[in-house]
Amino acid sequence: LKITEGEKLRKKLHNTILELKGNIRVFCRVRPFLSDDGVGADTKVISFPTATETMGRGIDVTQNGQKLSFTFDKAFMPDTSQQEVFVEISQLVQSALDGYKVCIFAYGQTGSGKTYTMMGKPESPDQRGLIPRTLEQVFETRQILQAQGWKYEMQVSMLEIYNETIRDLLAPNKSISDGSRPENGKQYTIKHDVNGNTHVSDLTVMDVRSSKEVSYLLDRAAQSRSVGKTQMNEQSSRSHFVFTLRIIGFNESTDQQVQGVLNLIDLAGSERLSKSGATGDRLKETQAINKSLSSLSDVIFALAKKEEHVPYRNSKLTYLLQPCLGGDSKTLMFVNVSPDPPSVGESLCSLRFAARVNACEIGVPRRQT
Ligand code: ADP
Repeated sequence: LKITEGEKLRKKLHNTILELKGNIRVFCRVRPFLSDDGVGADTKVISFPTATETMGRGIDVTQNGQKLSFTFDKAFMPDTSQQEVFVEISQLVQSALDGYKVCIFAYGQTGSGKTYTMMGKPESPDQRGLIPRTLEQVFETRQILQAQGWKYEMQVSMLEIYNETIRDLLAPNKSISDGSRPENGKQYTIKHDVNGNTHVSDLTVMDVRSSKEVSYLLDRAAQSRSVGKTQMNEQSSRSHFVFTLRIIGFNESTDQQVQGVLNLIDLAGSERLSKSGATGDRLKETQAINKSLSSLSDVIFALAKKEEHVPYRNSKLTYLLQPCLGGDSKTLMFVNVSPDPPSVGESLCSLRFAARVNACEIGVPRRQT
């Protein structure tokens, strides 16, 4: 009994610390070694501290014989399963059902495991990622809450932002077989209404009633993305993928109403410009990615410092997500890291950025611009 009480107290204290820290969390996830990882893949550059105070939260990186230590809200080792990761975000999924605006990002260099974390491998039940698992939880919980008088409407949209241009991944797909993009010529203007809802003109928004329906839409979006991939040089790693689930709940017996939003975002690869040796179109792409990733960090740091001016408008990504960043919204960032020794420089860049985000406490900005 004593152990259970102690465990309860430890959990309570831990949760209180997280609450005090504000509404942005950072989880680090290191992927396992892959057979095609670079030369020297057997050299260990990443390790996990075992000291009680950082266990499960710390990560150590060794570069040129020097060890650098980082601590996050959680640090997942390479053998952590998709289900174990999902358990840690399921509270945020519940928050969206309770009417909060939630953003979950995956940040890291290409090949570090962002898509695996977000989508996983839908064909393998154990390897399904956060998006399919989230949808299952949402629809299961909806079923339970129905018994308490709640009725929900769910709407899904999926888009990618490539070179600061929005592409609708659910656009009616007449021309996919000939490889041309279905939404050519559309402008997709972003607007926010007084209730903090985002509207993207011409964007396809689908009402969904089951996770099966959403799986079908995810397949359609993946197909639409892969057309871009072959045509546009691995575009998927060069674009941000934004999955949005809007949840509108109404309880007839209590007259309560909730409107939650859940955004799951697979960000473009964060690798640095100098390393990619980019020219021409590639250079333009890289500059667009750098611009939007640095705009995202500028927004997070401006919110953390409670600055008067929050530069949401500096990129499509931050402007699109404006109502879901700051205020009483909840943000979680995964920093995905490769254990491959040649990637150690990029891993350190990602971890340094994530450590700065993790130190942030986001509050309500005084004025949003
Ligand atoms: P990114 O989206 O960051 O470019 P991916 O998610 O495509 O990276 O991951 C790169 C490769 O590593 C893929 O083959 C993916 O299946 C594999 N991978 C990533 N994370 C894991 C993991 N946690 N467990 C097993 N395989 C993983």
